[in-house]
Amino acid sequence: MARGDGRLTHDLLPGEKGPQDSCGVFGVFAPGEDVAKLTYYGLYALQHRGQESAGIATSDGEQILVYKDMGLVSQVFDETSLSTLQGHIAIGHARYSTTGGSIWSNAQPTLGPRPEGTVALAHNGNLVNTRELVDMLEARRGGARAPKGEIARGNTTDTALVTALLDVEGDLARAIADLMPHLRGAYCFTIMDETTLYAARDPQGIRPLVLGRLDRGWVVASETAALDICGASFVREVAPGELIVIDEQGLRSSQVLEPRPKGCVFEYVYLARPDTRIAGRSVNASRVEMGRQLAREHPVEADLVIPTPESGTPAAIGYAQESGIPYGQGMVKNAYVGRTFIQPSQTIRQLGIRLKLNPLKEIIAGKRLVVIDDSIVRGNTQRAVVRMLREAGAAEVHVRISSPPVRWPCYYGIDFASRAELIANGLDTDEIARSIGADSLGYISFDGMVESTEQPAGELCSACFTGQYPVPLPDPRALGKSVLEQKKAGAPGAGPHPASPEKNEVPA
Ligand code: SF4
Repeated sequence: MARGDGRLTHDLLPGEKGPQDSCGVFGVFAPGEDVAKLTYYGLYALQHRGQESAGIATSDGEQILVYKDMGLVSQVFDETSLSTLQGHIAIGHARYSTTGGSIWSNAQPTLGPRPEGTVALAHNGNLVNTRELVDMLEARRGGARAPKGEIARGNTTDTALVTALLDVEGDLARAIADLMPHLRGAYCFTIMDETTLYAARDPQGIRPLVLGRLDRGWVVASETAALDICGASFVREVAPGELIVIDEQGLRSSQVLEPRPKGCVFEYVYLARPDTRIAGRSVNASRVEMGRQLAREHPVEADLVIPTPESGTPAAIGYAQESGIPYGQGMVKNAYVGRTFIQPSQTIRQLGIRLKLNPLKEIIAGKRLVVIDDSIVRGNTQRAVVRMLREAGAAEVHVRISSPPVRWPCYYGIDFASRAELIANGLDTDEIARSIGADSLGYISFDGMVESTEQPAGELCSACFTGQYPVPLPDPRALGKSVLEQKKAGAPGAGPHPASPEKNEVPA
């Protein structure tokens, strides 16, 4: 739908984003392979994790080249740009902005100088101690000295800070290992210098990161689906707190920080691709099981189960299997219209959700429907869907949600909304049902969701449902997307930016 600049986005409704992932990362070390193209296809498979900008860095052993721009992977790269990216090492990034706005200078991979070369870095996740890291960098530089590298060129991301903090004497692996204990929050890094590929994951392992094997090399990627697309076989997950180093001598690993696993449960609900596996569990199987569980917890007499496309599909299949109610496709999603950069006319914009979803009237007219979606953030999308289905002749519309009510913001790389915008904070389930115009509404229970992932509850982050944040949060004023813009504007400790979390919404 229309962005601030009037162009279209992939969201179903203006101002009604679904949960947005923080990014996808990829890395490859493969002498003799076209690593730029492998990275391109890897990023292509990770496009759902970030659609704002894309970039690839390569090295031939002597020199690092970077190409990045705003837009989708397929818009940023073509044969010509990929052919300039020569070498046998590459990292890549597809960005959705968390810390730092969606502007060209914040695109990744970031580049930074080191005493004996260059470092390039791609980051999935979000750090929560950005202000501390700014202070650390300023202390190292003697306070008043002007910033260098990407920060000097206007980069306001936590990623640029990490890149700058790696500008220390000595081995890069040592520099990364020494820095990891100072980083708090979620990070999966793919990093390279002229000769070596590195991968590092935070000790909670909040975001996924996997290692794969090519005939002639190694791949690291946010999701197993990115290994599949480039023909790499899955080897294992990068362990929480682990640093992997890959060069001509092979692969070396060190457990830099003690693992305290807290994988993001929302990856299973919505964020990851259904054909990805996380911690040994198929994401698709988790979602189908969530649908089955929903049917057990919130049965209803109905004629047809339909998903909100596409994310509700596996759970809708599960609900139909468990309930015995037939599954059908009641709406068609136009997958491509939201990925154009052409500005819609006012007439087109007024179509609202109809621009993205079209009901199949002959299938839904006169039917009692169960509509399955993965989550409710503000409720505007579900309200528009229910209205559209009624206008198309549905006799009843029962909404079922395959995650519990989202009540807390995420600070580890997922952009939901501020606390005040989350509909489940102001209304109970019956009130939400009335607000969205549904005949009934049912959310899966917290335990039902967790059991569907087949992961121990103690090893999952579920803070957006519970408010129990596994990595302690700083003062609310030191959080938010614009934390570095505020710092740059000379307002340390100033009130929160309008786009940042409201004061008092971080639990003690
Ligand atoms: S707060 Fe929610 S979305 Fe964020 S990491 Fe935790 S479970 Fe995932």
